[in-house]
Amino acid sequence: MNAPGPSGPAGQESRQVAEAAREHEWERESFMRHLFEGRFRLDLIYPAPPPDPDEQARARPFLEALRAFAIRHIDGDRIDREGHIPEEVLDGLRELGAFGIKIPRAYGGLGLSQVTYGRALGIVASRCASTTALLSAHQSIGVPQPLTLFGTEAQKEAYLPRIAKGALSAFALTESDVGSDPANMSSHAEPTPDGDWVLHGEKLWTTNGPRAELMIVMARTPPRPGVRSRRPVTAFIVETAWEGVEVVRECQFMGLKGISNGVIRFNGVRVPSANIVGGEGEGLRLALVTLNTGRLSLPAFCTTAGRAGLEISRRWAAERIQWGRPIGEHEAVAQKLGGIAAEAFAMEAGSELASAMADAKRFDIRLEAALLKLWHSETAWVVANEALQIRGGRGYETADSLRARGETPYPVERAVRDLRINMIFEGTSEIMRLFIAREALDRHVKLAGALLDPDAPLPRRLAAAGRAALHYLWWYPTLWLGWGFWPAHGSFGPLAKHLRFVSRTSRRLSRAFFHRIVRHGPALERRQAVLGRLVDVGAECFLISAACIHAEGLVREDPKNRVAVELADLFCRRARRRVANAFRGLRSNDDVATDRVAKRAMAGDYGWLTRDVGELVLGDLNASSEKR
Ligand SMILES: Cc1cc2nc3c(=O)[nH]c(=O)nc-3n(C[C@H](O)[C@H](O)[C@H](O)COP(=O)(O)OP(=O)(O)OC[C@H]3O[C@@H](n4cnc5c(N)ncnc54)[C@H](O)[C@@H]3O)c2cc1C
Repeated sequence: MNAPGPSGPAGQESRQVAEAAREHEWERESFMRHLFEGRFRLDLIYPAPPPDPDEQARARPFLEALRAFAIRHIDGDRIDREGHIPEEVLDGLRELGAFGIKIPRAYGGLGLSQVTYGRALGIVASRCASTTALLSAHQSIGVPQPLTLFGTEAQKEAYLPRIAKGALSAFALTESDVGSDPANMSSHAEPTPDGDWVLHGEKLWTTNGPRAELMIVMARTPPRPGVRSRRPVTAFIVETAWEGVEVVRECQFMGLKGISNGVIRFNGVRVPSANIVGGEGEGLRLALVTLNTGRLSLPAFCTTAGRAGLEISRRWAAERIQWGRPIGEHEAVAQKLGGIAAEAFAMEAGSELASAMADAKRFDIRLEAALLKLWHSETAWVVANEALQIRGGRGYETADSLRARGETPYPVERAVRDLRINMIFEGTSEIMRLFIAREALDRHVKLAGALLDPDAPLPRRLAAAGRAALHYLWWYPTLWLGWGFWPAHGSFGPLAKHLRFVSRTSRRLSRAFFHRIVRHGPALERRQAVLGRLVDVGAECFLISAACIHAEGLVREDPKNRVAVELADLFCRRARRRVANAFRGLRSNDDVATDRVAKRAMAGDYGWLTRDVGELVLGDLNASSEKR
């Protein structure tokens, strides 16, 4: 059993590169790893890791000041219209310390937690997604995050204070042929006789790139003795003022109109070896580990989008009268609004819980962060789309146009444009599902990987067979035995049944993974639709757990608060239906038929269906590709 991914020699190389870059060990507890293996360890996350009161006291004035600044100075509509975040906005954020929220105080940062960082991004996101993307690219994945995790003391002293003061940074991995697949990387750096490096190559879509002072750049370096990887990729801190760094072009997008994002070329840039972060050949691992926590920012700002979607929808549903009633009283709209409220509640619950887990520093949260990145980006998109529908024609109209007509300029149209990218960057939804499936299957891969690998030598396969038999003989029966119907989790009141559902589902999910391994063997890696359904079940289980914990916490704070339980209950019901659908989809689906049609579509067998649209839509482009 290999890491899930594409087949063929090129695919195999991509897989090997991804496999080499992943963290192989699980040194800390992982709630979701247990869950995927059939164990519901609620004790790990409940009670939720408590916040540090000292940190909270320091965070409060910062968040209040940020909120006041955001209301007064961050105008999302203007930034969207002008396609630029004014320098005064960045200066204001710098002054507040928003460029170094998590940078330790010893290096001039605010030294605040992941929870606070998420809340800060949420505040900015409620005004402007572009400014949030700038802050997030700068410090979720940009230079400070890998530097804090992997930097030497000298590197931290040299760069972190500068960044905390406001030196904007960027993260440059993507290239024209490197999107989801870093194996194709062509940017490269060669060592010079005096120990420096010379960097060549071109990076695509680097957020903040054209405005940044610093970048973390991934480039191939030659294999050398002592370097672990056979095709090493190394991470370099590059200063954009250095000779040879060129902004070739600024890119424009459907949304996030205010970000500065571009094609950056490195024309023989000389980089001191002191600027290698994490060691030679460790660049991809560094990028992956950086993203493991970095991915939590996206759920934080998606949560704001969900909450904003709820606020706008509820106001409009009550205000807009059609057919003699507020539209929210028509059941079709009520169904949407109730759904938005339930999903927004779970978004907040999941994001806060995973951030608290990150702050507790005793969890491995790679699975939770990836699951939330996937789930929140897709849910925020659904919520925004539903909110747009509730707003009707006004949902499709720009805020400027609404304002000009004297109407409340709810920025739903902008939100839909801005939110779409979340399913693409920092790992597309499809790649996130593969990543999560690989991590969920890790124990099986470790135990039976050689057994399922047709290229493995016989002695290795026999050894794997013995190990696997011993393990599965005791492990598999445990997946059928459990206390899932026992009246456990009584302190959760009416929500206890949902937690018991998660307990039963964790065993069912683990069995389903195991059955698919047995059934498909090494081919499981190519059954992405099957893996995707299993991953989605895992995500819903985490969100159900988070929603119940969140509601229980709210009721403990205020025993009169019954609406939190009602909201959590509705979310859990909806999530359970999605889980049931996913399991049903495992048994009965159209995967094979759909794959067959996709192959035919690629081969052009449906030319009669697309007829002239290629030429009409693509014009010259199509004509020239036809000629080729
Ligand atoms: C606005 C914006 C900002 C960005 N900011 C940054 C940044 O700051 N730094 C940076 O380095 N990059 C950045 N990116 C790049 C972004 O991370 C990539 O777009 C993303 O990784 C996907 O790569 P791609 O677009 O080349 O898609 P591709 O990899 O070409 O994928 C195309 C489609 O195929 C699917 N696919 C690909 N491989 C597989 C597979 N094995 N199995 C199943 N499906 C697959 C994908 O999911 C996707 O749906 C940014 C992009 C945008 C648009």
